[in-house]
Amino acid sequence: MSAAEMMYRQLGISRKVYEYGEKIWEALSGRFQEIDRISEYNQIKVIAAMQNQKVSEACLLGTTGYGYNDLGRDTLEKVYADIFHTEDALVRPQITCGTHALALALLSNLRPGDELLSPVGKPYDTLEEVIGIRPSRGSLKEYGISYSQVDLLPDGSFDYENIRKAIKPCTKLVTIQRSKGYQTRPTLSVERIGDLIRFIKEIRSDIICMVDNCYGEFTETIEPSDVGADLVVGSLIKNPGGGLAPIGGYLAGKKECIENAACRLTTPGLGREVGASLQALPSFYQGLFLAPSVTANAMKNAIFAANIYEKLGFSVVPNGTEPRYDIIQAITFGKPEGVIAFCRGIQQAAPVDGHVTPEPWDMPGYDSPVIMAAGAFVSGSSIELSADGPIKPPYTVYFQGGLTWQHGKFGIMKSLQSLVEQGMIPSNFDGTGE
Ligand SMILES: *Cc1c(COP(=O)(O)O)cnc(C)c1O
Repeated sequence: MSAAEMMYRQLGISRKVYEYGEKIWEALSGRFQEIDRISEYNQIKVIAAMQNQKVSEACLLGTTGYGYNDLGRDTLEKVYADIFHTEDALVRPQITCGTHALALALLSNLRPGDELLSPVGKPYDTLEEVIGIRPSRGSLKEYGISYSQVDLLPDGSFDYENIRKAIKPCTKLVTIQRSKGYQTRPTLSVERIGDLIRFIKEIRSDIICMVDNCYGEFTETIEPSDVGADLVVGSLIKNPGGGLAPIGGYLAGKKECIENAACRLTTPGLGREVGASLQALPSFYQGLFLAPSVTANAMKNAIFAANIYEKLGFSVVPNGTEPRYDIIQAITFGKPEGVIAFCRGIQQAAPVDGHVTPEPWDMPGYDSPVIMAAGAFVSGSSIELSADGPIKPPYTVYFQGGLTWQHGKFGIMKSLQSLVEQGMIPSNFDGTGE
């Protein structure tokens, strides 16, 4: 028995689960090589941007108070603009999360009387209150900004005819969500986002095209800003923070859009000149440096999970072989015990809180109990190995992240072990799927 296998055995992985995992992993080497190629390109892109912008040791020092002349903060924003090939960027610890970054982009670039359009269906849950789809204090709706939506067609394609009809003289900004998030629609490739933006710009070239880039960064060699997006927005506790950023969000795009956002984040007049970086910069820089490789690991973990469970007969989205443009993996177990056992296995592999047992609970804002597995260094970070699932049919768990492939592999094997022990897996499984 190899030393690694012995460790796995001590940590509760049976021989059968281990051997099944090995077999699945061995068959994925070609796929993993493709992912390494993408991360290789993105790693060089990030280093080149840091060199172009002359990142120096002094950039790692933070400021306090007002934060005037914060060299590290201002340089980091230039690095982001360089990576995303945009005129400008805003990258701040004062942006508290992805939802805040998106709300900032919308609230600062729309004015009363304007309309926001989503041509890709319902946006991420937390944006419903930002927009005012669900009534909420301070929503766009309260400020007299209307919203319209065109759903994707049943086959996942764009409904060009109705998008054309939905574009009115007051349509000011179009929001395009790259990742499926926790929905069943396909994640959009950057290429498809480019097709949609081209279509919209042909109708009205002055419409601001914004992309919710959460979970998509560095999964491909190009970003939405390379195919015409005026603004891309995301969270630093997902891909671009590389697991090290303890907080933060970014916006990269046209100068005008970024200036608007800066004046909304702080105040009119002060704009981007204030906002001390405190102690955040070393983790922002180093996290960004690691992000291409961390994102690649998260993609490998998602692909491994898809193949492990697909070959056991469970429905997985995306499937084991299709191309991927984000790091989220959905697995449908069809029974509450499956969701619970999966999350418990992931938790048992965690470096932090590995000894706790997650339980479903009635989370505010959800219509059914939800179970979550998270043993993260950064609270709530979903670039770290995590899973969650609502306890309702069809009993689907959403799995993402893992800073290292080795942790992802271990976590997924623990999840399978947990399902085996619950009697959820036929006892003669051998991984051939036949
Ligand atoms: C995570 C996510 C958000 C919101 O980010 P938070 O940091 O959770 O507020 C928005 N859109 C998408 C597609 C996401 O995945």
